[in-house]
Amino acid sequence: MPSVRFFSGETVPLEMHKVRVVQKLTLPDIDTRLAAITAAGNNTFLLQNRDVFMDMLTDSGVNAMSDRQVAAMMVADDSYAGSATYTRLETRLREIFGMDWILPTHQGRACENILAQVLVTPGSIVPMNYHFTTTKAHIVLNGGRVEEIIHARGLEVTSDEPFKGDMDVAALERLVAEHGAERIAFVRVEAGTNLIGGQPVSLANLREVRAVCDRHGLTLVYDASLMADNLYFLKTREAACRDLSIREITRQIADLCDVIYFSARKLGCARGGAICVRDEALYNRMRGLVPLYEGFLTYGGMSVREIEALTVGLDETMDEDMISQGPQFIAYMVGELDRRGIPVITPAGGLGCHIDVMRFLDHVPQAQYSAGALASALYIASGVRGMERGTLSEQRAPDGTEPLANMELVRLAMPRRVFTLSQVKYAIDRIDWLWQNRRLVGGLTFVEEPEILRFFYGRLAPVSDWQQRLVAQFKADFGDSL
Ligand SMILES: *Cc1c(COP(=O)(O)O)cnc(C)c1O
Repeated sequence: MPSVRFFSGETVPLEMHKVRVVQKLTLPDIDTRLAAITAAGNNTFLLQNRDVFMDMLTDSGVNAMSDRQVAAMMVADDSYAGSATYTRLETRLREIFGMDWILPTHQGRACENILAQVLVTPGSIVPMNYHFTTTKAHIVLNGGRVEEIIHARGLEVTSDEPFKGDMDVAALERLVAEHGAERIAFVRVEAGTNLIGGQPVSLANLREVRAVCDRHGLTLVYDASLMADNLYFLKTREAACRDLSIREITRQIADLCDVIYFSARKLGCARGGAICVRDEALYNRMRGLVPLYEGFLTYGGMSVREIEALTVGLDETMDEDMISQGPQFIAYMVGELDRRGIPVITPAGGLGCHIDVMRFLDHVPQAQYSAGALASALYIASGVRGMERGTLSEQRAPDGTEPLANMELVRLAMPRRVFTLSQVKYAIDRIDWLWQNRRLVGGLTFVEEPEILRFFYGRLAPVSDWQQRLVAQFKADFGDSL
């Protein structure tokens, strides 16, 4: 997808697709939005979709499909065993990643369940650039622990570092020296590091990680869920990849790995997942768990229609015009917010735009869930639904105290090929208005706090009448109530 400079001087990302199926949206007025977020306990997870204008909660399972994907779904071969549909997926994965052994799953975390059950033993360690929630949960459930060894550059909120997802290779060597290679269950590299803002991993770094694995006989596992974004960043940011096709870059990555797994809710714009394995013996150890947890080996819990869509989606992921849409829209949004002085994570990554709430609402204490408060305020001001990524998403300690998160973020995910640029401009404008009126935003307090997964189901209330004052200011500024 090219960035085009208009005659007026403005530079915009130009969509290389046209929309042929649409879903009607509504923009409820601000009184309705205040009522909806109040009914949802100020928790954006509890909003009803009919009250949401732009759903930027997640990029999982909500990416747009192409005409070719939808057409493929119509010719799916629905059978339990020996399905031609599954053979097409297997062939496609072998062709793209060059690994012979494939296991289908119903989604990404199911891959993690199988990998952890087979490779993680009590007391073992899994070094990784950064954890993902479901990954860590499965490793811990099997008695292992996660060691995050992201490079220090990765945790700087604002920087111009192109590969913030890179692993600290010296730290990996130290871990092996300290604990011994036999304690390391596997080494995990996550493409497009989700929880630190969709930041990519360089090919050079992966190569260094591979060298450490080779020296100590370690298994290298690559979480490719956000690989599409990572591929685009390799093509545009890493000199060694500039003259390679997306397919060639993909193959260079795969050739360095022993196992590649992914959530097809993100990679391939469908729903499902798969584990690709180089070694037949390892494949055989994992295979028995697929019928147990997923379904027979020729569908793994996916519907055949989704498998067909995924097979085509994986092929389309090899097209730079396709994979550049998300990162370019995100870069546009991050650039426009940054230009207005609004604190965002830089450089722009994949996945979405991340607002740095510690700076946005520096007057709201973390103990009053500043990121949750901003997510609530943004919904009131715009009908845009984002996700809190901060203290609210942490667990309370057994003694009742609350660990404060390292970062307070509101994540605004950019589902791939879903929004138009005018919708993105609308979100930018309303965030800008909120920034100008940020002193009106106050904190939140729990009224219902579940013991586990409180961020999914918890209900909160504003600590004062700040939401009424925000609505009054909005009406004063915009005249109408939209
Ligand atoms: C989403 C995600 C997963 C889990 O995939 P699901 O399909 O949601 O189970 C694992 N790893 C990463 C990096 C992800 O982004």
